[in-house]
Amino acid sequence: MKESDTKQFNWDVCGHEEIVHFLQSAISGNKLANAYLFSGPSQLGKQAVAYKLIASLFCQNQEKAKPCGVCPACLQIKNKIHPDFFITGQEMNEKTEKLSKGILIEQIRNLKHKLQQATLLNGYKVALITDAHLMNLNTANALLKILEEPTKNTVIILLVDDVSALPQTIASRCQTLRFLPVPTATIKTYLEDQGSFESGLVARQAHGYPGIAIDLVNNQDLIKTQADKVETFLKIIDADLNQRLELVEKAVNWEKDESINVTLLNDLFHSWQLVLRDALLIKTDNESLITNTTQLEAIKSNFASMSFIKIKSILNKMDQVSGYTWYNINSKSALENLIINL
Ligand SMILES: [Zn+2]
Repeated sequence: MKESDTKQFNWDVCGHEEIVHFLQSAISGNKLANAYLFSGPSQLGKQAVAYKLIASLFCQNQEKAKPCGVCPACLQIKNKIHPDFFITGQEMNEKTEKLSKGILIEQIRNLKHKLQQATLLNGYKVALITDAHLMNLNTANALLKILEEPTKNTVIILLVDDVSALPQTIASRCQTLRFLPVPTATIKTYLEDQGSFESGLVARQAHGYPGIAIDLVNNQDLIKTQADKVETFLKIIDADLNQRLELVEKAVNWEKDESINVTLLNDLFHSWQLVLRDALLIKTDNESLITNTTQLEAIKSNFASMSFIKIKSILNKMDQVSGYTWYNINSKSALENLIINL
C-alpha cells in the first residue's frame, strides 16, 4: 500500500494491522467485496473495525483522514441513524425484556427490502449483521438469497463469534477475515496513547482482547469485579467440595435469560482461565509474565499441590464448557458440574 493511502485513513483501532490495511486498500482501490465475514470471539475489535470501515465509506469530510468522526455522516453512523446503513442482530423483546434467541427471518427480509431500495444519498448501502452465528437455517437461507444477488455498491458485513456455527454456503459467499488476540504490548501502547493510567496492568488483564481493556479503563468497578472473581476462584481451589459449592453459588448473579447467563459464565471463565494460566506460568518459572501480579503469592500457594497436567485439564474443561453453552446447556449446572469435578 502506498503511504498516501495510509494518510487517507484514521482508524485508531487497537491491533489487527493486517486486516485494517487490507480493508483500507480495498476502499482506496475501489475493490471492496460485496460481503465480509469478520470472525473471532467478541471483544477482539470486530465491531470497532466494521464501524471504521463503514464510517470511511460515508464520511463527507474531504479535508481530513477518514473517518473524520465529526461530519454529519460520521455522527449518523456512530448513532446508527444513517439512512443507508442498516444494523441487525440479536434484539431485545420489549415485553419480556429477554434477548431473542437468534436473528429472526423477518429481520433479514426487512434488510433485503431496505437494500433493494435506491440509496438516499447516491452512494453505498451497508448492512451490518451482528451475532450472525445466531441464525437458524431458514434465516440463513433468506440471507443467502441476498448474498447470491449482490447489488452494486452494497456491502454486507457479518460478525460471528464462531465461523463453524454459520452454514458453509453463507461463509463461501463472503470474504472471511479472522480476528486474532492482540499482543499485550500493542494493547498497552494503545491505552497509553489514549492517556490511560495503569495501562500495563489493564493490558495484561485483557489477555489479547482490546474490548476488555477498554471496558476496564472506562469502568473502575470492573477492575474490582475482576479482582473478586479471581479471589473467589482462589478460594474454590483451596476448599473442600461443600465449601466449593457454596462459593460457586455466590460467584454469579444468574439472570432469568439464559443467553445472558452464557455471557456471564464466559466472563467468569475468562477471569478464571487467566488465574490457571498464571499458575502454569509460575510452575514453569515464568513468574514475570503473569497477569494477576497482585495475587502472585496466593496463586503460588493455592496451586502448590496441583500438578501442571491437572491445571491444564481444568483449563481444557473450561474451554469445552464455554463451547457447549452456545448449544442450550444450562449455564448454572454446567458451572456446578465443572466445580464438582475439579
Ligand atoms: Zn466524517
